[in-house]
Amino acid sequence: MEHSENCIFCKIISGDIASEFLFQDEALVAFKDIKPIAPVHVLIVPKKHVRSINDLTAGDEALISRMIMAAKDLAKQTGVNKSGYRLFFNVEKGGGQEIFHLHLHLIGGWV
Ligand code: AMP
Ligand code: ZN
Repeated sequence: MEHSENCIFCKIISGDIASEFLFQDEALVAFKDIKPIAPVHVLIVPKKHVRSINDLTAGDEALISRMIMAAKDLAKQTGVNKSGYRLFFNVEKGGGQEIFHLHLHLIGGWV
């Protein structure tokens, strides 16, 4: 699996930094955001190191679909599916991205 040195999410994925996964399969992991901005805040992260949405190629179409399907399942798992939730990508610095390893935010749980 492609990884990048000094990438905190690659270290979480490899187990170099301990983390509890809410979900894991051959392509993805999901874990709780360390600084949640909502009662439920989960990050859905590809195991492959991709910097941002800007770096996706045609071959990544299935990966992005899987991320969204995993988010749907995690919304149910965390109990926010009925009340509702937001899914978003921050893209590069101007878009608020701070960790340059692709991730999808799932936030919810206010109601
Ligand atoms: P972004 O601004 O889209 O790059 O989001 C990065 C997110 O990663 C932020 O919401 C951080 O709180 C979160 N984060 C940073 N380090 C960790 C970590 N070690 N474990 C879990 N979440 C983290
Ligand atoms: Zn990485």
